[in-house]
Amino acid sequence: MESMGLCPFCDIAINTQKITENKTCILTVCLAPYHQHHLLVIPKRHVEKIIDLTKEESDDSAELQKVAISLMNKLGHDNLSLFTKEGLSSAKTVNHVHFHVVPEIHLTNTENTMIENREVITPYQMSHSVAKFKNILVN
Ligand SMILES: [Zn+2]
Repeated sequence: MESMGLCPFCDIAINTQKITENKTCILTVCLAPYHQHHLLVIPKRHVEKIIDLTKEESDDSAELQKVAISLMNKLGHDNLSLFTKEGLSSAKTVNHVHFHVVPEIHLTNTENTMIENREVITPYQMSHSVAKFKNILVN
């Protein structure tokens, strides 16, 4: 697909910023987090519409969403949100299907207010965060 070279999630999928992965999806940290423990499940293939996910991609993403939820629980987060966005209202987000797993937020606050306050984390911060979650995953 033409947009692949410009898609940051296609870049993430091919570099090493993975907490874990299965055949078709990866679990990683969010580059512009709503919360310090904001995770993303991203299909490795560049897919722009949820309806275009294969059954395997849907199943694999659901599996990694459960891993993310288990990590949240280990960190003591019992309040969490699992969501994905698609369409014009989500124009500010990356046009590659991704599932958010975010603790301790109220979704009504994110669309117009919190999104303006999101800061993109550095590659160092991202590596640090990925390492932290990998460590929790194996312990
Ligand atoms: Zn992509």
